Amino acid sequence: MTLQDIRSCIDSFAPFATQEKWDNSGLLVGDPRGQITGVLVSLDVSPAAVARASETGCNAIVAHHPIIFQPIRTLTAESVPYQLAAKGIGAVCCHTPLDIAPGGINDLLADRLRTVLPCAEGSDLLEPDGCGRILTLTQEMYTADIAAAAKRVLGCTSVRFGGDTTHPVKRLGICSGAGSSMLEGCAGDCDCLLTGDVKHDRWYAAQSLRMGLIDCGHYHTEVIAVPYLAERLRSAFPGLSVTEFVEGDPVQYV
Ligand SMILES: [Zn+2]
Repeated sequence: MTLQDIRSCIDSFAPFATQEKWDNSGLLVGDPRGQITGVLVSLDVSPAAVARASETGCNAIVAHHPIIFQPIRTLTAESVPYQLAAKGIGAVCCHTPLDIAPGGINDLLADRLRTVLPCAEGSDLLEPDGCGRILTLTQEMYTADIAAAAKRVLGCTSVRFGGDTTHPVKRLGICSGAGSSMLEGCAGDCDCLLTGDVKHDRWYAAQSLRMGLIDCGHYHTEVIAVPYLAERLRSAFPGLSVTEFVEGDPVQYV
């Protein structure tokens, strides 16, 4: 099995051709023809992920976030792409194709929330390109109560919420990672948006739009992809050594 085979497996359920224009997903580091001894699956290609791959004999990392995204101006020993190349470890990064794929991160997030929220069957798309989902609640809930339930089921240390929290929520928009730029686009269709990485101005935008807004953190809305990706690889390649690396929230709280 080669690194190209790993790329093709990911491409079969999260096609790289569907990536956003600004994205950089795909086989980013390594020799496509290189033989694979084991795969480490991680949310990020962090230095700790590279070290763990090395310790566990994995010469490929499948991660959600692209390890090369901004232009590379230096390639020194401290940089992760350098470390990967030096250790002969390849990297395949899923990113926006996995965000929008049926069964991908947003559907995983919907499934997880469904275990603590009273939801109707199925979901609608938050955006026509497939990013985000909308859950219809069978019992209206307040933003504060949705935030508390999400905190519990996603294992967050802290969840922030705001906007207009006085109205009951019937339609809940969700977007893994950082989706608060979608507030305006989904305002007519949702009463509240649950995402991560919410910036200051977005809380005021939510107030103006009379929507609730919940920030569960980028990490907690996406780390759910790790066991999913590992399972897809195990079922595609029986006998392949697949190691799940869940590093923990990179943010600390006081
Ligand atoms: Zn992300």
